[in-house]
Amino acid sequence: MISDTIAAISTAVGEAGIAVIRVSGPQSITEVDQLFRGKQSLVDADSHTVHYGYIIDPDSGEKMEEVLVTIMRAPRSFTTEDVVEISSHGGVVSVRRLMELLLQQQIRIAEPGEFTKRAFLNGRIDLSQAEGVIDLIRSKSDKAFSVALRQVEGKLSRQIKPLQQILIEMVAHIEVNIDYPEHDVESVTSDFIKQKSLEVMNGIDELLRTANEGKILREGITTAIVGRPNVGKSSLLNTLAQDNRAIVTDIPGTTRDVIEEFVTINNIPLKLLDTAGIRETIDVVEKIGVERSRTAVNDADLILLVLNHNEALHEDEIQLLEQIKDRQVIIIVNKMDLYRQLDLVKLEEYFPKESIVTMSVKDQKGIDKLEEAISNLFFGGKLESADLTYVSNVRHIALLKQAKRSLQDAYQASDDMIPIDLIQIDVRLAWEQLGEIIGDSAPDSLIDQIFSQFCLGK
Ligand code: GDP
Ligand code: ZN
Repeated sequence: MISDTIAAISTAVGEAGIAVIRVSGPQSITEVDQLFRGKQSLVDADSHTVHYGYIIDPDSGEKMEEVLVTIMRAPRSFTTEDVVEISSHGGVVSVRRLMELLLQQQIRIAEPGEFTKRAFLNGRIDLSQAEGVIDLIRSKSDKAFSVALRQVEGKLSRQIKPLQQILIEMVAHIEVNIDYPEHDVESVTSDFIKQKSLEVMNGIDELLRTANEGKILREGITTAIVGRPNVGKSSLLNTLAQDNRAIVTDIPGTTRDVIEEFVTINNIPLKLLDTAGIRETIDVVEKIGVERSRTAVNDADLILLVLNHNEALHEDEIQLLEQIKDRQVIIIVNKMDLYRQLDLVKLEEYFPKESIVTMSVKDQKGIDKLEEAISNLFFGGKLESADLTYVSNVRHIALLKQAKRSLQDAYQASDDMIPIDLIQIDVRLAWEQLGEIIGDSAPDSLIDQIFSQFCLGK
């Protein structure tokens, strides 16, 4: 049982309209009450009520801050403990002073993620829901946000638990047969195990089906913008990002480093990487950039190769076309406002017309065609409905795959008439692997590692 009381600033630190300090634990109401002066004592306050008043410095009796205090009594709170939230005017100094006062009471400062960890340890949420909270905080697009929200709501757990239930039935069935080994029962068991294993494997497949898209929604499609110097890569990135983070110049090779920018195109989150121009060079600084762009190409889910409409295909570009021809690629023929020197027929030997977009970043022409081409490549041009559960977390994906493998082993072993006590090991393993997703069977070290990813005050 958790016995101490913790506090943290739960809003972003800095200039803001209000700031919220959250206090959770058995002493939270009595301790805050000692610093509070309002119409009534907080100790007598009903759950889920808001109280106007002042925080008083207990030494001088001085009014420190005008506040609204919200009382949420156990177990109807995020952590399931008594929770007090103090809203104050958001200045950095005043919030710090409030925190200092609280920490002079029987309250200690919360570790990052400790509120969520308590919600987990007190059984209010499971591990996948807690991880959803991290994703919510970090989500970079509306869609990623709604995927994370589904997870926080426990949708993933609700799909895992019935599968675990089947596995428990299997284990129970096997136990009975180990205790009463009669030969004719054995073959019934083998069929039973095969049938149930298939059932669970199908359930896992159903979840994994969304994994690729879920991962994309969560992390964004890693998109490398590549091409020779001066073709317009940085201009394109700027146009797509609609700000001016990358430096645009007329001198070839100014983009030395890889620049990252998150954008959302037709609801699809993209992580755009502007790379230094791909070409062999003796310039040391640029060489580092070229190396990076090679790596960026290798790691990318999508490659945007920018060519110049106004220049013939360069040898470097032909090499590059060869290198990327089996990848997800969109060829951008930029500078269509200028006279055509590029051999489009030659280009179509490498890539079909559909993946070639002619545009002018300068005149802002053809951007919509590019956006359409991108959405056509992913999600078949449209995202599935919002209430679909996407498995988006790599940890979850790995565990689902492991559980499936364990069940494949169980299935195979049944087929080979291997003794059922050995098969039971695989089934139990699958149960544990699914359990690790929701935290039933997660080791403490993993739990610590997951919660350490949180920011303070969550
Ligand atoms: P990068 O080296 O590939 O990143 O190229 P930049 O984005 O730095 O652009 C190089 C030059 O080409 C800049 O002067 C841009 O203004 C210019 N530029 C970019 N797009 C176009 C375009 O569509 N038409 C024309 N005429 N110039 C462009
Ligand atoms: Zn550039």
